[in-house]
Amino acid sequence: MKTTKALVIEDSATHRKLVESILAKSEDDHFAIETAQRLDEGLQKLARTQYDVVLLDLMLPDSEGMETFDRVRQQSGHVPIVVLSGVDDVNMAARAVEAGAQAFLVKGETEAKQLIRAVRYAVQRAHAEHAEWDAPMFHLAQQQFLKAAHLMGLDDNIRERLLFPQRSLVVTLPFRRDDYAEVETVFGYRVQHVLTMGPTKGGIRYHEEVNLGETSALAMWMTWKCALMRLPFGGAKGGVAIDPTTLSRAELQRLTRRYTTEIITMIGPDKDIPAPDMGTNEQVMAWVMDTYSQHIGHAVPEVVTGKPVSLGGSLGRREATGRGLVYLVSEAAAHLHMDLKRSTAVVQGFGNVGSNAAKFLEEMGVRVIGVSDVNTGIYNENGLSINALSEHVAKHRTLVGFPDGQEITNRQLLELPCDILVPAAMQNQITGENAPRIQCKLLAEGANGPTTLEADEILNEKGVFVLPDILGNAGGVTVSYFEWVQDTQNYNWTLEEVNDRLHKVMVDAFRRTTMRAQRDKLDMRTAALIEGVQRVAEAKLARGLFP
Ligand code: GLU
Repeated sequence: MKTTKALVIEDSATHRKLVESILAKSEDDHFAIETAQRLDEGLQKLARTQYDVVLLDLMLPDSEGMETFDRVRQQSGHVPIVVLSGVDDVNMAARAVEAGAQAFLVKGETEAKQLIRAVRYAVQRAHAEHAEWDAPMFHLAQQQFLKAAHLMGLDDNIRERLLFPQRSLVVTLPFRRDDYAEVETVFGYRVQHVLTMGPTKGGIRYHEEVNLGETSALAMWMTWKCALMRLPFGGAKGGVAIDPTTLSRAELQRLTRRYTTEIITMIGPDKDIPAPDMGTNEQVMAWVMDTYSQHIGHAVPEVVTGKPVSLGGSLGRREATGRGLVYLVSEAAAHLHMDLKRSTAVVQGFGNVGSNAAKFLEEMGVRVIGVSDVNTGIYNENGLSINALSEHVAKHRTLVGFPDGQEITNRQLLELPCDILVPAAMQNQITGENAPRIQCKLLAEGANGPTTLEADEILNEKGVFVLPDILGNAGGVTVSYFEWVQDTQNYNWTLEEVNDRLHKVMVDAFRRTTMRAQRDKLDMRTAALIEGVQRVAEAKLARGLFP
């Protein structure tokens, strides 16, 4: 659960304590609360600390009324303000809302629940108004693209067309939890970056920090990924800003069906084909498929990929991202003259991608010495048994308490000396700050966007060989493509056929990327990006402009 940093500026000790105790008792949110009794004290705190929300009494010993509001607004920028109003000052509080406060609450008449919701929504609304596009991930995706565009001398007009997604849909959906107590408003997204080369393709992510910018970054990476792998798709991505780990199965199903309904005009087997991403899985895809099929009036398995095999899912899709990554590791090892049987690996993330990557690395004879999940890292220099780890996670839902290794932090994990490092969790993990201490020879990116631009430069200087995300994790979308092909042809392939074809596609993309990197003296990420961008640019030019 994310912590919301709140500043309460209120001179009455009674009200201050009341607000503090109400926020501290919230079950669904976690607040870190600081207080100030006077305006000058509040302004000083605002200057020093970045808060998520300010709760403000307008009548303070050193300032009164709109002046209080204006001065706080000036200092706090986009930080949302919730006015705490006395019964007699409601008109003034309303004026503050007109001037940009998110809400006001009347002291003494406000119930605990109302206060918590007002604060929660103020934070969400401010975020929606100011920060949707302003995501670090979107800046990263755009900067990577601009660097590649510059190096390849990409036509200016095309560069501008590709810098933002072609279609973005933001929806809000009503969502009620099992206890029926309240209806929450939840933000959802579906972004289609390039519609030039066929339907768009990309996962659906459930995570509390999803926003338009992040979804757009992920959609853009899907475009380059599909083009690099020569799949007939443009890039897309979707998401819902919610923490799925807090949801019951029934809640997850309701949320999924409503979200699908909200984006239903955008998706379809010839339009845009969703798949799993962080926080979603085969079951979620089955519900998307069912909701869409109910709407159309007959079963349409080909509207999503990564669904259960019984519904037309492909054999090998679940393991495909991890498997594809390890096929590449094997190619890279040959390229670097590394003996895998004498190599060690560290895998960050033990979800679908991380756990499968670890399993396939182990099968190839690599000694996996470290793994992690959101809660902990586990280290054993003699090697971990991936089977034992998976059994532990199946039983306890976390790596915590795994007996056959030492618990370490995620930070320590990334900095372990090893031959192969596999970030397969969140974005933004290897940064300018920790890159100097990364000690691997080969960085095999299973996650999307795990490495910042600054870190890239440091890793290049250190001579680390990078399998960049759009290549490294492309096994997933590649087998998604196979699934879509099987569904549209009503003809199923064997697991061997799926894996053989995956192997061919991965190796082909690896060779094209390394050849381009060597020929044009580029790092692997830029080479992979250019390989993808060039194909998209060619397709755009070939189609020309309408009208
Ligand atoms: N979400 C995965 C990715 O980021 C898979 C997308 C797909 O299979 O369409 O590549």
